[in-house]
Amino acid sequence: MNTIKTIFKIGKGPSSSHTIGPYNATKAFIGEINRKNIKKINKIRASLYGSLALTGRGHLTDKAIIEAASGYNVEVLFFPEKILPFHPNGMVIDAISKDGKSLLSWEIYSIGGGEVLINFSKNDDSKNLVNLSELEGDEKKDFLDIYPFSTMEEILTFLRKSGKSFLEYVEDFEGSSIWDYLSLVWQTMLQSIDRGINREGVLPGNLHIYRKASLYHAKSLNFMGNMQKEGLLYSYALAVAEENACGGIIATAPTCGSSGVLPAILFHLKGEYNITEHKILRALATAGLIGKLVQTNASISGAEVGCQGEIGVACSMAAAAATYLLGGTPSQIEYAAEMGLEHHLGLTCDPLGGYVQIPCIERNAFAAARAIDACLFSILSDGSHKISFDKIVEVMKQTGKDLPSIYKETSLGGIAYVNKENEQPEV
Ligand code: SF4
Repeated sequence: MNTIKTIFKIGKGPSSSHTIGPYNATKAFIGEINRKNIKKINKIRASLYGSLALTGRGHLTDKAIIEAASGYNVEVLFFPEKILPFHPNGMVIDAISKDGKSLLSWEIYSIGGGEVLINFSKNDDSKNLVNLSELEGDEKKDFLDIYPFSTMEEILTFLRKSGKSFLEYVEDFEGSSIWDYLSLVWQTMLQSIDRGINREGVLPGNLHIYRKASLYHAKSLNFMGNMQKEGLLYSYALAVAEENACGGIIATAPTCGSSGVLPAILFHLKGEYNITEHKILRALATAGLIGKLVQTNASISGAEVGCQGEIGVACSMAAAAATYLLGGTPSQIEYAAEMGLEHHLGLTCDPLGGYVQIPCIERNAFAAARAIDACLFSILSDGSHKISFDKIVEVMKQTGKDLPSIYKETSLGGIAYVNKENEQPEV
C-alpha cells in the first residue's frame, strides 16, 4: 500500500478521474514531447472512451486537456461506445504531425482519485501498466509500497500488539513529512469552505443551479441547537462541493465529487469542540488510511463501482476522523468507518447531464450528516460488531461489479435519465 497522499490530491474540480487525472496525464505527455524534443507537431489529439467520453463534457475533461496542452492545437474526440481494456475511464493521446502520423502515443487510464496508469506498449497485459507517479522523479516515492499491511484486520492486530493508534501507524511508515503535506491539504480545505460560503450565483453548465452554501449558512445562524449545527454542517459540505462544481481548487477526499464531506466534518467539529490544528491533521491521517484501504482493496472510482466508492468512502473516512476526534478507540474508529460505507452500499453514480452537481452536491451534505451519525453510533458502542470493515470493502467491490454500467458515471440511467432535456451538457 502506498502513501495516503494519493487520497488527498490538490487540484481543480469537478472530477478527480475526469479532470485531475486527464489534466496530469496530458501535462506529463507534453513533458515527454519536450524531453524527446519532438518537433513539427500539428496537433495534440485526445480520444476519450467509455465513461470519460459519456460524461467528459459535463465533467470538463476536454477543458482540462486543452489547458494542460496550452500552446498546442488540441482536438478532443469522444467515443462513448468503446471501452478500453483496463478501465471504463480510458483515453489515448497522440502528437499528430502535418501528414497525419502519430509521433508519440500513450494509452491512459484515469482510475479514480486522480491516479493515472499508462499502457505504453498498448498490449493487453495489465503488468505493463505504469503509474504516472512512477514517471515523475520527485514523486517516485509516492508510488512505492510503504505500508507493511493492506487490510484493516492486519493493522488492528498490529495496533493491539504495539499499543499504537492509527495516526502513529501512519507516521511510522510515512515519516514526519506527512504532517507538512496534511497541513497543505487542510489549508486547501479551509480555503474551499471559505470561498464556497462567500460566493453566490449560478453554477456553470445548463442545469442553472443556484449556489446554496451561502444561503444555508446565513439561515442556519438564525436557528438554535441541533438545527443550527446540522444546518451549518450542510453549508460547509455544500460550499466545497459547489466550489468543486465550478472547477475551483479543492483537495480530494477521496475524490473531487465527494470532496465536501470530510472538510465539513473537520471544520464543524473544530468549531464545536475547539479542536487544535494539530489534532485535525491527525484526524486527516486516520481518514486517509481508511480511504487508502478502500482504494487498495476495492476502488474509489465512480466509473468502476458507482457512487458508493466516492460518497460512501468519503463518509467512511469522515466517520473515522470524527470518531478519532471524539476520543474513540481503534475498534470504534473501525466500526464508524465500516458503517459509513455499509450504509451507502449500492449507491449509483448517475450525474444529471454529466455535471458533478445533481445528485453530487447534496450528497456531500447528507453524507456529512451520516458520518456524524456513524460516529455517535460507534462511540455509544464498545466497538464490537459482526461485519468487519474489510468485509464491507469486499462487499462494496462486488456490488460495484454487479451494478449495470448505466449506474457507473455514464449518465445513462437513474437520476441522469429522469430529465432528458438536460442530458446534453453545454459545450
Ligand atoms: S454521483 Fe457520486 S460518484 Fe457520480 S460524479 Fe457524483 S459524486 Fe461522483
